[in-house]
Amino acid sequence: METIATVSEMTAWSRGQLRLGETIGFVPTMGYLHEGHLSLMHLARTENSKVVASIFVNPTQFGTNEDLSTYPRDPESDTAKCSHEGVDVLFMPDVNQIDGEGYQTFVEVEGVSGPLCGLSRPGHFKGVATVVLKLLNMVKPSAAYFGMKDYQQLRVIMTMVRDLNVDTRIVACPTIREADGLAMSSRNAYLSRDQRKQAVCLSEALAKAKELFDRSEPDAAKYLGAMTARIEQEPDAEPEYIKLVDPDTLEDLTSVRNRCLAVMAVRVGNTRLIDNMLFEA
Ligand code: AMP
Repeated sequence: METIATVSEMTAWSRGQLRLGETIGFVPTMGYLHEGHLSLMHLARTENSKVVASIFVNPTQFGTNEDLSTYPRDPESDTAKCSHEGVDVLFMPDVNQIDGEGYQTFVEVEGVSGPLCGLSRPGHFKGVATVVLKLLNMVKPSAAYFGMKDYQQLRVIMTMVRDLNVDTRIVACPTIREADGLAMSSRNAYLSRDQRKQAVCLSEALAKAKELFDRSEPDAAKYLGAMTARIEQEPDAEPEYIKLVDPDTLEDLTSVRNRCLAVMAVRVGNTRLIDNMLFEA
């Protein structure tokens, strides 16, 4: 596996591969890799002749009071994991490679960036969309792989790629979970042992919503009641939002028919966790 740190080398490598007729699968991450990230690389490996993964903790998607400075990092272990997954290039640009002096261009996806995490994290999806478009331009992938765990992020990126005619296929990948159901996340490392136990309430709340959907319950209020009740059982869990939304527009649903997304952000202690489940009849 090759490690590349500069934009010029990355782009030159990709141009060379494309000239040879290779297809490039791309997995952008912020590092501190877990099985969720590796599942994206695995799928990229099966669908493409070359795989690029990136690690970049993007400052512009963190708010002023968020965890940019404490975000967990382990480049050595990440490098070994990527190599083991058969990644061809690990792109680890320095922050000044991404937005140097005089930087002034941003991408804003209007509709789907607004609700849910968009309300409590203003500017977050603008930071995400901008860096993802820049990375797509640098790596020039045929396909890029994103986790459904960050469902709203996935919708923002799909909308951007559609609206700006970006020539990359966006692939949605299922959420990988711990044995007890907790969605894997680099931020799970922040949880104390007791908080880690309590954090199972997110996936268990979603499972309660799934039970209602499987019984064809049409009343959204019942889903919200059941999910909220499960979260409230845990002393350190504080919901930021618990919603039932249209999976395409992310707008609230009052009644449920054959498709919906249950989605939540919950603080467990100081750690903000997100999770969701897509229900389709
Ligand atoms: P991050 O490093 O958190 O920016 O995540 C990088 C990519 O991995 C994003 O596309 C995430 O949606 C995806 N991802 C993170 N956690 C999981 C998970 N538990 N299962 C599947 N994909 C995930």
